[in-house]
Amino acid sequence: MAYDKSIAAFEEAYKVIPGGVDSPVRAFSGVEGTPPFIQRGEGAYLFDIDGNRYIDYVQSWGPLIFGHADKEIETSVIEAVQRGLSFGAPTTIETELASEIVTLFDSIDKVRFVSSGTEAVMSAIRLARGVTGRENIVKFTGCYHGHSDSLLVQAGSGLATFGSPSSPGVPADLTKHTLLATYNDIESVLKCFEESPDGIACVIIEPIAGNMGLVPADEAFLEELRCLCTNHGALLIFDEVMSGFRASLSGAQGISSVKPDMVTLGKVIGAGMPVGAFGASAQIMAHLSPEGPVYQAGTLSGNPVAMAAGLTSLRKLKSNPSLYVSLGNKAKKLMDGFKKAADASNIPFVTDVRGSMFGFFFSDKPVRNFDDALENDTARFAKFHKGMLDRGIYLACSSFEAGFICAAMTDEMIDETIKAAYEVMAEIA
Ligand SMILES: *Cc1c(COP(=O)(O)O)cnc(C)c1O
Repeated sequence: MAYDKSIAAFEEAYKVIPGGVDSPVRAFSGVEGTPPFIQRGEGAYLFDIDGNRYIDYVQSWGPLIFGHADKEIETSVIEAVQRGLSFGAPTTIETELASEIVTLFDSIDKVRFVSSGTEAVMSAIRLARGVTGRENIVKFTGCYHGHSDSLLVQAGSGLATFGSPSSPGVPADLTKHTLLATYNDIESVLKCFEESPDGIACVIIEPIAGNMGLVPADEAFLEELRCLCTNHGALLIFDEVMSGFRASLSGAQGISSVKPDMVTLGKVIGAGMPVGAFGASAQIMAHLSPEGPVYQAGTLSGNPVAMAAGLTSLRKLKSNPSLYVSLGNKAKKLMDGFKKAADASNIPFVTDVRGSMFGFFFSDKPVRNFDDALENDTARFAKFHKGMLDRGIYLACSSFEAGFICAAMTDEMIDETIKAAYEVMAEIA
């Protein structure tokens, strides 16, 4: 495949945009080659400016569950655009989308819309702190919750559980309120509660982690987490920005019986438009401005064009209940195929699937937390990624990302992808 135009475009972009991209992962730093610049998408396919076509397993990092340029979503967006782009005043479509979400998630009575997942999580944490009157939060290493200051933490050097900034520009005074625990390890959470017995406002977790590769939480672990939070009066936040409407129609909560106190959403609820949301019981949400004292606002929050895209997408999902079964079957078929391809070349490989989300690691043991994920063979992944890209298969350009099936994918596309995987695995063995 030729990438000449993309290579030139990347050089041009580099001159005026840091690293040539507006979000770091897009830069292909962890894999070989330069990122294809995209001209357009259609269903399951992406087309780059060199005229290459790819089967797209990234789908804008999750939002496009119906694939690119879905006709019904497109029509609702165009109609919304024709009525005006933004009013900064209430519209009934916000209530309609909120009502859909409230009926799907038991743990949500009321929901507030924002414009990104980052904003949703940042606001949810402020609300949790405001409701409890506490300052500390617990997060899990390897879970990603957007780029707000208090969540850009890594393990500190001294007291292991208190975080230190993982990026310059983040004050240590902020991250010292973030305690770090290990995914799927309840002892590590207990330790956080021991170190800060009455100070923890909330524990935030991706109930199906998708930002260290796909690493689901055990049901027993989530149950114990729920107990710990309840016993200590800390709020449990499920960050379902990725898993919401992806793992099932009601996200991880459609698979697990554990109910959080608060939920954050994003990605699929905007169907490709910038939307995030956070929700909880009416009692918790009553603390939020203007009902309560916890301040939160946004000029473009609940934007009517974004709401139109989200509403059409959610209604399409709701009216097609068997969709998740078929998406899940395709994800399983794809991962089984990759696994067999790896086995055929004696390459250590593990996979997982949750609904329309899939993940794989070049690793010889199951991945249950971030330390396990770090042991995956990233050099081999980089070669695999390049080999697949050259065969028209667009996979996430990092071994720490989940993959996504969209409704426009056919079994033939999955077969074509598996065939490519056999060839590439043989090459990189
Ligand atoms: C993508 C993601 C975010 C951040 O959302 P943005 O829209 O990129 O700000 C937060 N949490 C999780 C679990 C995510 O996957």
